[in-house]
Amino acid sequence: MKICRINLENKVAYARIEDSQLAILGSFSTLAEISTAEPTTKRVEISAVKFVPPVEPSKIVCVGRNYSAHAAELGNEVPKQPLLFLKAPSSVITNGEIIQIPSQSHQVEHEGELAVIIGKRCKNLGESDDVSPFILGYTCLNDVTARDLQRSDVQFARAKSFDTFCPIGAFLETELDVSDLRVQTFVNGEVRQDGRTSEMVFPVPFLIRYISNQMTLNAGDIIATGTPSGVSKMVDGDIVEVRLEGLEPLINPVFEMG
Ligand code: MG
Repeated sequence: MKICRINLENKVAYARIEDSQLAILGSFSTLAEISTAEPTTKRVEISAVKFVPPVEPSKIVCVGRNYSAHAAELGNEVPKQPLLFLKAPSSVITNGEIIQIPSQSHQVEHEGELAVIIGKRCKNLGESDDVSPFILGYTCLNDVTARDLQRSDVQFARAKSFDTFCPIGAFLETELDVSDLRVQTFVNGEVRQDGRTSEMVFPVPFLIRYISNQMTLNAGDIIATGTPSGVSKMVDGDIVEVRLEGLEPLINPVFEMG
């Protein structure tokens, strides 16, 4: 099921795709119930609505160097346990919105990734615990990075958290086997990154269990699962697309701030 969040008559509403239209969902009390929420009779055309990011995360937990070829292209070793860092929630935008290149950086790069959206609070999951009850769905994510600042700052917070540096897809897919999906990034239609989620050093269930033992994951939180090799600089006027099999594409124009 494909679920999105839209601006409807100045109110934010959740909807799902039905027969090429959006069916507005009725009320639900927690995010975890969204996939079973009944649609109302109200339908709107997909082309007629303004999308907003599908969740408002309390945090975005990112996994660095989770594809060995990407670790190698930046001259890094593959970590022995997941390398975690955070992106600021204020960096989130959605499909079609502008990625702004800040004046502080001269090397802003794309990182196309699979994003896992948490549906239910989870903490201290054990090695054999089933993670599926805690997953709301999946979407595409671009972990936009000011590479020059990431190198000079050492800490990742600034390089990863400028406003607009976390584009996420407008639609969450609630049912998808993500263990072996093609993940690609295109700039102006030219392929730059082309990998498979099966190449992750630490797969999705391992990541959710591991992160839940470091910090509580809340409903709406996002896990960015790492990027394949092929990261490259984006410049003013570029159109960047992140595509994963089974998910709606994430397409954003890039603008340099004057
Ligand atoms: Mg990344």
